[in-house]
Amino acid sequence: MPKTDGTTEPTQLLELLAEEFSDAAASAVKEAGEPAYRVDQLKGWLYERTPLSFQEMEGLPRSLRTQLEEKFILHPLEYDLDLLSEDGTRKFLWKQERDDSRIESVLIPDGDRVTYCISTQAGCPVKCTFCATGYGGFAGNLSAAEIIDQVVQIRNRTAQAPTNLVFMGMGEPLLNFDGLCRALSIMTDPRQLGIGARRITVSTVGIPDRIRELSRSFPQVKLALSLHATNRQLRDKLVPLNIKYPLEDVLEAVREHYRQTGRRVTFEYVILPGINDSSEDARDLANKIRDIHSTINLIGFNPFEGAPYRKPVLKSMLAFRDELRRLLPGEVTLRRSRGEDIQGACGQLSLKNQGSK
Ligand code: SF4
Repeated sequence: MPKTDGTTEPTQLLELLAEEFSDAAASAVKEAGEPAYRVDQLKGWLYERTPLSFQEMEGLPRSLRTQLEEKFILHPLEYDLDLLSEDGTRKFLWKQERDDSRIESVLIPDGDRVTYCISTQAGCPVKCTFCATGYGGFAGNLSAAEIIDQVVQIRNRTAQAPTNLVFMGMGEPLLNFDGLCRALSIMTDPRQLGIGARRITVSTVGIPDRIRELSRSFPQVKLALSLHATNRQLRDKLVPLNIKYPLEDVLEAVREHYRQTGRRVTFEYVILPGINDSSEDARDLANKIRDIHSTINLIGFNPFEGAPYRKPVLKSMLAFRDELRRLLPGEVTLRRSRGEDIQGACGQLSLKNQGSK
């Protein structure tokens, strides 16, 4: 992109779709006077290994590495810190190039599965009352390159390639729809990162038209809906976007998603003691979603400083789960809380580290 002084901004390499990458790489290689096969070498480095700098791309001439460095940005996110939990969960904190915002990602190992939890926004404008990210403010959408960079940097820094990706980190993915869709295209394109779309889950609090668009554009991508309450008044309070997009409309879009894709939906439900975990809440929930082929993931609230809710006790969470199992045919699971010793819940670590540097 041209700047006012006539020079051009370096291009974000991870932001490019397959054809855009081929064109940009071919012109850089040609300009450097190098043979065309260097494009494939660069492509291999970029999508298969993604080193931390161009200088690590062995096999490319040093002069070309330096020219690539001047033309392109390889990693838009700056590594800040990472913390390893006793249970193997590893949390990463990144800094954006353009300002001082912190972004979180989490690696969650579980047997043969390695799940990366990825952020789509710096902070979140939705401000759910049980979520540390919501309390931390909102600094803006992440670019597709910044979304993808979380994946390739974690892969490089841990040597644990992801088996699954979940968009459940900071932010509401469907409020950054362009960035999300571009990132999904690059991640799933077999010429680029080649991650199977069926291994990717997008979690949303619910924007009906964007759910429909996502089903059309990426029918293999799994949908998770953050439900947390079925009573309108309560959901308005817990998930303020419910005021604009009421649950009835959201559930209609979820039904259409199932009809169109045939893929089972996951409902996420944070248990807040005394707020949304009564027998009546279980009955309401079952009645609302009975006709949707789904799995329910219950998650015990993970307290953070200043949070207005208590941590639920295991006995009451099991009782709520069992009640739902009696009422619904689908799977109901109580998810283990991971990485509690490293502020494992979304937004906790960045909230703690805001302004620390
Ligand atoms: S739960 Fe999701 S949508 Fe709600 S504030 Fe947190 S990050 Fe945003």
